[in-house]
Amino acid sequence: MKDFSINRRQFLQFTAAGVAAAALPFSTIQAETSQKNARIVILGCGLAGLAAAHRLRRQLPNAQITMVDGKWEHNYQPGYTLVATGVWRDTNMVKANNDKLIPKGVRWIQEAAAEIQPDAQMVITHSGNKLPYDYLIVATGLRLAYDEIEGLDILSFGQNGLASVYHSPETAMASWHAMDAFRKKGGRAIMTLAPTDMKCAGAPLKMTFMLADRIRQAGTAGASQVDFFAPKTTIFSVKPVADKVLALWKTLEVAPQVHYHHQLVGVDMDKQTAYFRQPETGEQSSEHYDFIHIVPPMYAPDVVFKNSDLANANGWLNVHSETLQHSKYPNIFGLGDVNGTVRGKTAATVKKSTPVVVHNLIRTMNGQAPDALFDGYTSCPLLVREGEAMLVEFNGKGDLTPTIPLVNPLQPSYFAWYLEEVMLKPAYMTVLRGRA
Ligand SMILES: Cc1cc2nc3c(=O)[nH]c(=O)nc-3n(C[C@H](O)[C@H](O)[C@H](O)COP(=O)(O)OP(=O)(O)OC[C@H]3O[C@@H](n4cnc5c(N)ncnc54)[C@H](O)[C@@H]3O)c2cc1C
Repeated sequence: MKDFSINRRQFLQFTAAGVAAAALPFSTIQAETSQKNARIVILGCGLAGLAAAHRLRRQLPNAQITMVDGKWEHNYQPGYTLVATGVWRDTNMVKANNDKLIPKGVRWIQEAAAEIQPDAQMVITHSGNKLPYDYLIVATGLRLAYDEIEGLDILSFGQNGLASVYHSPETAMASWHAMDAFRKKGGRAIMTLAPTDMKCAGAPLKMTFMLADRIRQAGTAGASQVDFFAPKTTIFSVKPVADKVLALWKTLEVAPQVHYHHQLVGVDMDKQTAYFRQPETGEQSSEHYDFIHIVPPMYAPDVVFKNSDLANANGWLNVHSETLQHSKYPNIFGLGDVNGTVRGKTAATVKKSTPVVVHNLIRTMNGQAPDALFDGYTSCPLLVREGEAMLVEFNGKGDLTPTIPLVNPLQPSYFAWYLEEVMLKPAYMTVLRGRA
């Protein structure tokens, strides 16, 4: 493949063009409108729910739109990786309040949805509040099942080498403290993967690259070992990306050793021991660690998984993979991490799929068949060392689909690092406000 990568000097020459390209709204989907007065309920005030609410507010001026979410704080989750690896030292950079983000004219019920009754077109909240709807958007994100890792107390992150980038801003910061303490002395680091689908499946790889880089910077490579344990037979579901990451790992001063067929099932936090099970044989093993990065199993929240008739066989929201309309209930759409689509649990997925969902919902409302199709787009700037990343973009089939000229998705560049560190958050906020 021709090498389109650029170095820092070349990047500066292209910055203006890059910023302009990233600022352009790339949705070419026609913005359907309707004057109808329908009741629309959106479950979840995360990126997906808010992005849909902003678009619907503009495109359906007469609709009664209600958002349901018990969480007050909104978190910019892609920033957790930067916090957990010591690039950002302030958790306020990943926090905002939902009352400032929910569009004007949209009602917010500040509690979680407990049950969905699709035949009755009703959502029941935890306090028993009944919310009838004509159209429903399920955007509840996913549940992090730390409770399935025996012996783990999530309040202990940051202590005794315990880290996890996924949980919260505070845990991301605690994880950095654990990584910082570890890199000063060195020792044995254990990195893990979930046995389920994951949001930002690149995050555990970024943590591994950055840990190795922090060790190199601290000069403790000679005293360090990094082991990466994966439950299946791959570290990433897109093969060219997995192959490239493995090739890059081999070149690092502390080259991570990969162990397949190892699922993390427990920890002894005092003895700093991790317990693994081989999914195929059930065989158990234990490994000592000085630092461990924990990636929990991930599932659709119980409101979908257990308390509705809306899940597929794997427990995720059962939507058509292209229209994102529910497979059984045409007045229900899914958006974001909760969807049972292949891959696609990223903010980039939300960016590309929100216009599809809003368009198809309004067409359904107007008695027309959904005609906008989502291609399963996902992207992730994979940090490979401080100052360099790879901007990997791919579709639902796992084909690489680079969209930015001059950036080779499999070549580390300063440009991709800059995208993650500086440009991703403004881009995220643009998506959230339904403008991208
Ligand atoms: C460490 C990390 C790094 C990441 N890096 C990247 C990256 O580099 N690039 C990228 O594109 N993406 C990245 N992502 C992924 C991205 O943040 C998510 O894909 C995105 O936030 C998904 O949006 P969502 O609205 O579906 O879910 P969320 O943003 O998680 O929001 C879900 C909302 O639903 C609410 N909810 C849950 N249950 C209920 C209920 N029962 N009733 C009502 N509301 C409910 C929750 O309180 C929450 O507010 C990263 C994520 C993490 C954690």
